[in-house]
Amino acid sequence: MRDTLAIVIPLYNERDLLPELFRRVEAACGQLEGISWRVILVNDGSRDGSLEVMVAKTRADPRYTVLELSRNFGHQAAISAGLAEADADAVIIMDGDLQDPPELIPDLVTAWRTGGEVVLALRRTRREKGLLRRLGFASFYRIFGWLTDAPLDVSSGVFGLLARQVVAELNRLGERNRFLPGLRAWLGFEQREVFYDRAGRAAGAPKQTLPRLIRYAVDALISFSFKPLRLMTYTGLVISAVAFALAAVFVVKRVVGIEVAQTGFTTLVTLVLFLGGIQLIGIGLLGEYLGRTYDEAKNRPLYVIRARHSAGPTDG
Ligand code: UDP
Ligand code: MG
Repeated sequence: MRDTLAIVIPLYNERDLLPELFRRVEAACGQLEGISWRVILVNDGSRDGSLEVMVAKTRADPRYTVLELSRNFGHQAAISAGLAEADADAVIIMDGDLQDPPELIPDLVTAWRTGGEVVLALRRTRREKGLLRRLGFASFYRIFGWLTDAPLDVSSGVFGLLARQVVAELNRLGERNRFLPGLRAWLGFEQREVFYDRAGRAAGAPKQTLPRLIRYAVDALISFSFKPLRLMTYTGLVISAVAFALAAVFVVKRVVGIEVAQTGFTTLVTLVLFLGGIQLIGIGLLGEYLGRTYDEAKNRPLYVIRARHSAGPTDG
């Protein structure tokens, strides 16, 4: 029996990239031996006619399937949809903007065949446009590592391969705030690494806009760590301690008879504002956790599928 491979690609408004994507995936998969592969394109509510191009592709080539979501659910949800659909011995997750080079597919498969259950594609370099984005990525991974103690590799994104069993376990993790690199690290399994140079986007603007990336980062931090809450507690403790010491000093001075100097009104105002600020930050932080708890409690599905398009017998 031949091994099976599924390649999951989340796509949102990538029409202009699709022909190039198909060509390079097919070229890369052409080098594989003894494995039958299929591509699961997850159309994450594209509004640029991507869907029509994808569906046309499934008509021409039965190795392609399109999973059409009912609206834009976001990168991570789209990947989850693809993973639930992928019924294969090995599953590769790959961005559709060609920042994850399809040419790496044979290397990923080789690493899997030699015993890797989770194969991470690690970037030697990252070519993001814009200083803010680069800085953001760098500081996020640093902060994440510090806050969570999770064994997360700084240079890994979602690109990589998962063995069938790992996909099954991942599908079982029901949480809505999904941060795939973190979940993948949490699952464990035998890891292998493959290196590549990350290119810039082949065309178009990033679909993960900066605010989205920030949300993603906050989600990641909060769903993997209680440290921010603890930090707030410590801050409160330190401030209370300082206030207490200050009060003690005033009392002693009064008792000993040293004139307590008239402290300025501005000091008072500053302190009140400072403390108010800290309290609001604390409440806000609490809200972030509470909101996510609420979100999880509602237990809505991560995505909604409108249709499956494929030329095969699974047409639906
Ligand atoms: N993407 C998606 N849904 C979204 C945003 C992005 O499916 O809401 C896809 C996008 O088409 C691309 C991949 O996810 O194939 C990565 O997106 P992008 O390149 O914008 O993210 P970045 O490289 O900035 O992390
Ligand atoms: Mg990209």
